[in-house]
Amino acid sequence: MIVIDHLTKTYTGRGEVTAVDDVSLTIPTGEIFGILGRSGAGKSTLLRCLNLLERPSSGTITIDGVDLAALPGHELRVARQKIGTVFQHFNLLHARTVLDNIAFPLEVLGIDKRARVARARELAEFVGLGDRLQHFPSQLSGGQKQRVGIARALVSSPSVLLCDEATSALDPSTTEQILDLIADINAKTGVTVVLITHESEVVRRICSSAALMADGRVVEAGNLLDLLTDPESRLAEILLPTGAVNHHANELILSFAKTDAHEPVFSHLTRDLNVDVTILGGSVETISGHQVGRLRVAFAEPMAYVDEEAVRRYLIDRGVTVSRV
Ligand code: ADP
Ligand code: MG
Repeated sequence: MIVIDHLTKTYTGRGEVTAVDDVSLTIPTGEIFGILGRSGAGKSTLLRCLNLLERPSSGTITIDGVDLAALPGHELRVARQKIGTVFQHFNLLHARTVLDNIAFPLEVLGIDKRARVARARELAEFVGLGDRLQHFPSQLSGGQKQRVGIARALVSSPSVLLCDEATSALDPSTTEQILDLIADINAKTGVTVVLITHESEVVRRICSSAALMADGRVVEAGNLLDLLTDPESRLAEILLPTGAVNHHANELILSFAKTDAHEPVFSHLTRDLNVDVTILGGSVETISGHQVGRLRVAFAEPMAYVDEEAVRRYLIDRGVTVSRV
């Protein structure tokens, strides 16, 4: 488990910038945790504090109970190996082959050549580059370069994998392949993944939990299926938009995060309670493996004569979360 407690990072120099402002966050072991926010929100700074490329101005980060910043030098180097990082622009060494790029962290650690080549080869095969071992980065596609970046991040068997906009330099279909690879790695190894992104699609596709960051702060955080049933949630509205408020008299937001039987619910509702439902906006997506939806609906005129409480109860009994706008 990663526990970030009242973390603040202020850059000093010409004008002070508080890039991360009193952030507290708990990231459970084995999750794929998304941190979503616009450019400048402080996401990369937070990530660089997690892998100790940056020293926090105040606050602490503990990983599995260990406060990394408090460790003496040699222990810190060992602890750092337990955190792998994947970068947006891959950060590969251009004069080295795929195999030597992947093996590089082991070389720095002084692991002997045979052992590091064997381990790098294993990782290259795991990420689907078994036939590219002697290629140079310039001979690879963007997706292949990122596979090298991921293999290198995993080579010392980290317990945490940090990804900073790992797919932001890639086209949409390559993005999907890389995200699926990260999900597969998480499922097979149990590594905790922290994914920083400005793209909601990344969170929708593979995250089970997420935080929304703005102006250095965490606006909200939690399990996605829980957030999607919270009518106040900003993350829910970003991930599954229902559109603008219509100021309709009988406007409700319905969340189908914990049921997948939403198709028949409406036709049954219409038939059983004799009410007409108008869908004003909404989205249905697969999020963390569940089909979920948020719909903004209004009940047509006869509703005025119908017991709204009966409609609510009808929907709630079928696993739908109902909220007034
Ligand atoms: P994000 O990754 O969400 O785009 P960053 O963490 O990169 O956000 O940046 C957050 C804020 O901190 C921005 O205002 C940025 O200009 C500032 N910042 C980032 N790195 C530095 C730095 N090394 N020195 C000074 N300011 C920085
Ligand atoms: Mg960034």
